Amino acid sequence: MTATMLPFRDLLKPSTPFQWSDQLTEAFATSKQHICESIQAGVEIFDKGRPTCLATDWSMDGIGFWLTQKHCQCPSHDPFCCRDGWRITLVGSRFTHTTESRYAPVEGEALAVADALDSARHFVLKCRDLTVAMNHKPLLKLFGDRCLEDIPNPRLRNLKEKTLRYRFRMVYIPGTKNLTSDTLSRHPSGTRTPTRLHLPDDLTAPSPNCSTDTLSDDDGLPTAMCAAISATPINWEQLQTATMADQSLQDLMLVIEAGPPTKRNLLPVGIQAYFPVITNLTIVNDVVCLGNRLVIPSSLQQACLDTLHAAHQGTSGMTARAKASIYWPGLTADIAATRNSCSICNGNALSQPHMPPTTPEEADHPFEHLHADFFHYEGSTYLVLVDRFSGWPIISQASSGATGLVQVLRETFATFGIPTSLTTDGRPEFTAHATRDLLTSWGSTTGIPRHTTPMLTTAPRQGSNLSSGSSQGTPTPGVP
Ligand SMILES: [Zn+2]
Ligand SMILES: [Zn+2]
Repeated sequence: MTATMLPFRDLLKPSTPFQWSDQLTEAFATSKQHICESIQAGVEIFDKGRPTCLATDWSMDGIGFWLTQKHCQCPSHDPFCCRDGWRITLVGSRFTHTTESRYAPVEGEALAVADALDSARHFVLKCRDLTVAMNHKPLLKLFGDRCLEDIPNPRLRNLKEKTLRYRFRMVYIPGTKNLTSDTLSRHPSGTRTPTRLHLPDDLTAPSPNCSTDTLSDDDGLPTAMCAAISATPINWEQLQTATMADQSLQDLMLVIEAGPPTKRNLLPVGIQAYFPVITNLTIVNDVVCLGNRLVIPSSLQQACLDTLHAAHQGTSGMTARAKASIYWPGLTADIAATRNSCSICNGNALSQPHMPPTTPEEADHPFEHLHADFFHYEGSTYLVLVDRFSGWPIISQASSGATGLVQVLRETFATFGIPTSLTTDGRPEFTAHATRDLLTSWGSTTGIPRHTTPMLTTAPRQGSNLSSGSSQGTPTPGVP
């Protein structure tokens, strides 16, 4: 073949004047014949039992592949072990779409693999010894198994899913051995708007419920992204526009595309808060994503918070919902602030325990375990003590501070006996040194506050009712 085409090589030299001769016409016809015969032989010799290699490559302009089979006797199964050992069966290429040309390299290489497997499916679907070779090492790790769960990038997961119907091993080959695919991807052929790869049973194909008008530029916006955007009050176009206008997100996108740094202080100051999650951030259709969550620009954050709290959900409910759809640094704190600043929620809430109430110890006899809390009524402060055994309330007017508390406790203990434990909500009077000293010296086992129990949340209101019911009278110490 090389010998047949030799006359053409001289013609390509700038120093040689271009002159077509009869000899060249004959060489041209012979070369054409040779190429046709080689192609015919290549297709005919395909044997699904032979070691087969599909080498792929992606460039911004296109994707390309070549399918070869091993005909040499080399002991190694590595592709291209010797110069003529692997013979071509099929080659192919296509132009990339606008979105595909902006893919990150790892996504582009994954696209090339998925697309090549589909183009060569009639050869490789039942292939027993198939190797997929590409010159991009990060993809080996991602496509090295058949597991989908660990891939946070939805586009990569979607592409990997398209390859799961094929059995193959993946290997790295240096670019110098992958020149054919490289050339094909840089000089693709065919239409500029090729058909996109959609498999009929794609689990991650775009949902029919998704508003496709704003998603038409992207092939693989998966259901998870549609679900995430539908959980917010905004649409994809608004999110794209706001992301575009947000300087810190634009900086962040540059960092994601360039590859994140290993140290926080290497990031621009405005986006250092993203450092803990930066390796999991991806760009899907001009929007930054953290796994299946959308990174919301600051201009849209309040709208998202308002929607999360639209039905006056609690902090944990809002956080759980947010974690399925949206993200920005400080989201959890913003959710807590939204809940805490809601006057309707605060008005309805009796108490806001930070932890579930502890189940109190069973009491065997009256005044063994007491609960204590303060309440205010008509400008005065009262201490209410409730006996756990009987529910008996003791309401006493107390001057403010630990001194007042100690005085009331001393009188109550002298009258009713010393309790084994005193359960409180832990406000400063109960944890003060004077109170602890009293409890220790009287042999009461606890000065350690516990969180509010149902008995305490209702006791002050009972006390309040009692006191307002007793005509003008001030509650008498020790008298319910
Ligand atoms: Zn060989
Ligand atoms: Zn609320």
